[in-house]
Amino acid sequence: MVDTSGVKIHPAVDNGIKPSKPGFAGGELQCKCASNPVKVKVASQTAHNHVCGCTKCWKPEGAVFSQIAVVGRDAVEVVSGAEKLEIVNKDAPIQRHKCKDCGVHMYGRIENKNHPFYGLDFVHTELSSTDGWAAPEFAAFVSSIIESGVEPSRMDAIRARLKELGLEPYDALSPPLMDAIATHVAKRSGALPA
Ligand SMILES: [Zn+2]
Ligand SMILES: [Zn+2]
Repeated sequence: MVDTSGVKIHPAVDNGIKPSKPGFAGGELQCKCASNPVKVKVASQTAHNHVCGCTKCWKPEGAVFSQIAVVGRDAVEVVSGAEKLEIVNKDAPIQRHKCKDCGVHMYGRIENKNHPFYGLDFVHTELSSTDGWAAPEFAAFVSSIIESGVEPSRMDAIRARLKELGLEPYDALSPPLMDAIATHVAKRSGALPA
């Protein structure tokens, strides 16, 4: 047995995962600025919530993983502090809008209509003080945490801890999401009927 004591993943899962609430209809995300925070209204429950080990997602101070979910872009609206938002990398497939002052990513948006996930925004629901958001379901891009400086020797304990939490570790996205991407590609190429 691998010793998983003391392994930290993300504050939203380390002390137990809060359950989703049936009928939950969204809330407001707020950046970490003490004054004039950016506020983003998300008028819907999210889907595919997961912890992510990639180097692009915003992570809270000290966390090895981010926590990120998707929601329809029509449900996302900046309600305060829009002037403080800037795009991290305009050339990236996902344009992550961050607060210039505290660095928190408020939402990630895809502008390429041919992208498999076009129409979905990426959000960090931990930025909301409301409970009931969709609970994380899996861990994506787990091997990528090494790219942020995690010692490879720690990977066994980290993967074991993710399994203990019920967050199946994958080194890409989850199989349903990988299948959705491949289906989109096959429909575009004609390998599958559109
Ligand atoms: Zn801020
Ligand atoms: Zn990520």
